[in-house]
Amino acid sequence: MPPIDDEFTDLTLFITGPTWLSPRVRATGSLPEFGHRDSENEKRLGPAMRHLRALAQAGDDHVPILFNGSGSTAMEAAIRSLVAADETILHVVVGAFGDLWRTMSESNGKRVATLRFAPGEAIDLNRLDDTLKTQRPAVVAVTHNETSTGVINDYKAACRLIRERGALPLTDGVSVFGGAPLDLADSGCAFYATATQKALGLPAGFGIAFVAPEALEKAARVQHRGFSSDILRQVERARKHQTLTTPSTTLCNQLAVQLEHIVTVEGISARFDRHERLRDMAHGFVAGLSGFDLMAAEGSRSPTLTAVRAPKGFDTARLKKVKETMRGRGYLFDPGYGKLNQELEAAGERVCFRIGHMGDVSEEMLAVYLNHLGEVLVS
Ligand SMILES: *Cc1c(COP(=O)(O)O)cnc(C)c1O
Repeated sequence: MPPIDDEFTDLTLFITGPTWLSPRVRATGSLPEFGHRDSENEKRLGPAMRHLRALAQAGDDHVPILFNGSGSTAMEAAIRSLVAADETILHVVVGAFGDLWRTMSESNGKRVATLRFAPGEAIDLNRLDDTLKTQRPAVVAVTHNETSTGVINDYKAACRLIRERGALPLTDGVSVFGGAPLDLADSGCAFYATATQKALGLPAGFGIAFVAPEALEKAARVQHRGFSSDILRQVERARKHQTLTTPSTTLCNQLAVQLEHIVTVEGISARFDRHERLRDMAHGFVAGLSGFDLMAAEGSRSPTLTAVRAPKGFDTARLKKVKETMRGRGYLFDPGYGKLNQELEAAGERVCFRIGHMGDVSEEMLAVYLNHLGEVLVS
């Protein structure tokens, strides 16, 4: 091993992405490389595509695409492929990641409308309906699981409503896919974006999208979709279980092995149940801390991460100290979404930190982590 390895610290990640890699996933990193146009590709990505569909509860309609890049790559492809020059896209923003998608639309010169909810709130369908009626957007983008605030939206109800009003619904599910049921076949969602490095418990490297036939029909009518952001080019390769451009074959190996594990060893519903228990543990932990409480509104609390409001006076400087103390104990703590905390602090409001509990994190691991964190927060 080259000497630089000695300087890499092996921390257990409890941030909200990238997430901790199990020893099994790490070991898979040493499986053989292969040619991505060779028959060896099918051995990995054939089963992987099938398992992705199973994990999404997708029917025959939605085709999974693997984009080289990350979740953002898939999200930007949706904007470039599905919003025509003379159309409006409505971004429903419940936090920083809703804003990220909105920024992508603006940066691509699209006409943007915004419906915004306060941090910690979920999408209110009545307000969404009012906005749909007044703005008449052609496309609407919603966040399934807002990673900055720990809010999970009822994305299916939002997609149904958007569709009823004649618009094309797009969903960002980057931080929840693999940790909660999607029921994609019945969702009405035209484009569902996710990534490998969050609840799937893999390294970053693929943006994943599930694309419905109406999205493909729509894309055919949109000009200048780019090259790697063109979902029509992408889907042609995806139907052959290939990527459009050269993938990390290491990540392909890891994806294949991890999905096989999720579907055939852990079991899909057992995985979702485990995430619910992890959420309950995090909530129980917060309930036992005096002065701290949950950021997300009751009924909209994520199974993959928990955002916690610190007491008044517990500022971002103190959260940074907590982070360094936790590092000393072998953990990477998440001191909250930077921009959100800056805004909250500037407004004299309470800042928040996050507990990532997604991917392959076990209940035992989370229990030990929360024990440490409880000690450090009150010290
Ligand atoms: C992490 C995240 C993104 C960005 O994904 P990348 O894979 O980092 O590009 C987008 N949306 C949500 C909700 C996320 O959690």
